[in-house]
Amino acid sequence: MKEPIRVTVTGPTGQIGYAILFRICSGAMFGADQPVKLTLLSRDNEKSKAALKGVMMELSDCAFPLLAEMRAETDLREAFRDCEAAILIGSRPRGPGMERADLLEGNAAIFCEQGRALNEVAARNVKVVVVGNPCNTNAWIAMKNAPSLDPSCFSALMRLDENRALSQLAEKTGMPVCSIQKMAVWGNHSPTMVPDVTATLVADKKAVDLVDGEWVKSEFRPTVAKRGGAIIKARGASSAASAASATIDHMYDWTNGTDGRWVIMAVPSDGSYGVPEGMVFGFPCTVTAEGKVEIVKDLELTDDVKVGIAKNIEELKKEQEAVAAFIPN
Ligand code: NDP
Repeated sequence: MKEPIRVTVTGPTGQIGYAILFRICSGAMFGADQPVKLTLLSRDNEKSKAALKGVMMELSDCAFPLLAEMRAETDLREAFRDCEAAILIGSRPRGPGMERADLLEGNAAIFCEQGRALNEVAARNVKVVVVGNPCNTNAWIAMKNAPSLDPSCFSALMRLDENRALSQLAEKTGMPVCSIQKMAVWGNHSPTMVPDVTATLVADKKAVDLVDGEWVKSEFRPTVAKRGGAIIKARGASSAASAASATIDHMYDWTNGTDGRWVIMAVPSDGSYGVPEGMVFGFPCTVTAEGKVEIVKDLELTDDVKVGIAKNIEELKKEQEAVAAFIPN
């Protein structure tokens, strides 16, 4: 049996938390032979602690063979001590009448503190995925507050956007999802993102030869980019199981490598495609067997994708300006 991996999850009692924990413990996230030591960070109030106790009772009742240890924590440093994977889901939801700026600021405080704690106590090769929105900027804040960790430790979840794009294209072409390769989604996890099929192959045929440009522009892109809102409207609650599933995919591939297959991850930019260095931006990436994420380079971008990328850079710059008070000099 392998040594257990230390995993910390925040927001464990929320919708996504409830959908993800059982799959982490069943081996879906790190592999069917990889035991986990789970630390669950909740807020320090009676309601959160009681809800977490209930979730932990259920986890215990599953008798997962891979669950080597499980702890509840309310203290950040205890929660992140030696952790090798941090799944940051807990965040302040957007309340009625709340402006985007208030949401950014409320979450900035959370991710600033979490970044500092990770900086002090997490394993030096920790893999952090931020799910809580606005996830790109939250990940950037945590990274900036963790100067002794390599920026490559930080990422944000855009795999859900990739998965949505794959399913839309599969449905349109009548081909299975597994026949599609090289899907791209660029930018911010917001309706501004750019799903892009320019390099995509469907059963080794170019997607651009199978679907027309008008469909890409007026149906595919808006459907993917606004899917979160459509789910809230239909379900009366935001996407949860699909977000949990995408987070599993993201961490599984980061840990196990992708053997050349493209996956979409929001990672600190290395300056590729004109994205400012350090900005946490969705790119097509590959992951080596050692877990090194590499942005796919030198793709030829169409003019509309270039314009879309520029819009995402501007949006993320504005988000960064709004949280400047939380970034150390
Ligand atoms: P829920 O509201 O169901 O749960 C969020 C959890 O966060 C709560 O259970 C709570 O956990 C914690 N929390 C709430 N307020 C605060 C606060 N002020 N400070 C710290 N923790 C807090 O949300 P979901 O699980 O549905 O979604 C979680 C996040 O994921 C949201 O930000 C959502 O927008 C985002 N999301 C991201 C997606 C992506 O693709 N990147 C897709 C879908 C959602 P506790 O009480 O235990 O501390």
